[in-house]
Amino acid sequence: MGFEVIGAGAAGGDPAGWTWAEVDLSAIAHNVRLFRSLAPRARMMAVVKADAYGHGAVPVARSALSAGAEWLGVARVHEGKALRRAGVTAPILLLGWTGPSEVRAAVEWDLDLTVFAPDHLPPVVAASRELGKRVAVHVKVDTGMGRIGWRDLEEAARWIAAIRDLPEIEVRGVFTHFAAADADDPGHARDQWERFDRWVRELEKRGLRPPIVHAANTAAVVRMPEAHYDLVRVGIGLYGYLPNESWYSRVPVRRALTWKSRLVYVKWVEKGATISYGCTYTAPGKRKIGTVAVGYADGFRRGLSNRGYVLVRGRRAPVVGRVCMDQTMVDLTDIPGADTGDEAVLLGDQGGDRCTADDHARWVDTISYEILCGIGKRVPRMYLRVPR
Ligand SMILES: *Cc1c(COP(=O)(O)O)cnc(C)c1O
Repeated sequence: MGFEVIGAGAAGGDPAGWTWAEVDLSAIAHNVRLFRSLAPRARMMAVVKADAYGHGAVPVARSALSAGAEWLGVARVHEGKALRRAGVTAPILLLGWTGPSEVRAAVEWDLDLTVFAPDHLPPVVAASRELGKRVAVHVKVDTGMGRIGWRDLEEAARWIAAIRDLPEIEVRGVFTHFAAADADDPGHARDQWERFDRWVRELEKRGLRPPIVHAANTAAVVRMPEAHYDLVRVGIGLYGYLPNESWYSRVPVRRALTWKSRLVYVKWVEKGATISYGCTYTAPGKRKIGTVAVGYADGFRRGLSNRGYVLVRGRRAPVVGRVCMDQTMVDLTDIPGADTGDEAVLLGDQGGDRCTADDHARWVDTISYEILCGIGKRVPRMYLRVPR
């Protein structure tokens, strides 16, 4: 399959030498359009925290914005600052808590702040005065996530009424976050939504409703249209993954990232030979073993030892023995012709088969999010536009 490399991320060495990730930006654009069509009345925030879930924040943000997203969401001030430095002018929300020492930088770089306690305000007011800017904030309420936000919604309403009158602050948004919108049982998300919706209607009644009400993550975009409001915050879906595996059949996302490495050494071993640290694998017969240039320092989890597979020549090569820091062994016995220099697909499609972050997540007992975010810094990202 041909592709056009339109940029490579920062990492040392030959970008395609040991292990690298190919990010198909046309898949990001496709997913933006898909989620916009699922929430046609809302604007869309592309959540690009954690370096766009490991995909690379700047190229993903640009693709998402040009495909119709209008907002960006990040977790940390330096993430927002990196986007601004790259020339991104779209509104950016800091989704979590921002410490007092970082507030000034946030205001300087025009990042909207999330606030949810009285002591969040003095640094905001100070930065506003110092920089001569009105600061946009979004008030977070906790309707059942139990993480951050006002838990007493009446108190939150009174607080909004008070800070609305400060000349330094503009209350641009109010929002909440679902704890279990992806669960098979929608009950908890429904309860959260009811609580939030009642409160929003109360704000409206009192003339306190800010311009942007938001609640939905990827899961709620898919299954709770009533929670779309003015803006939806799409993270995992943007990258072509869904938080509930049973939804893939009806939500045609496209996975954007393919993670590859190479066979750097191929050999036959005799029955009884052991492979890798701790000798946890013993060849049950004559086996053809390949060494792949990826390890847990790249984010190829050590939990994949003797578990899971990579794709070589479109076939499954099971991981044998322990995953090392920089190298991993696989069994090539059943893959005719497999040889040094062959690509090994760690995540993505090859031939008619595929291996996904959902598969890795199942094997190491986590979620696709953590697998994607965990792809290491030393794995160069290449940005592709695959012709179709
Ligand atoms: C990370 C995050 C999101 C995105 O969630 P997905 O499940 O990846 O869509 C949305 N809102 C907030 C507040 C977040 O922290």
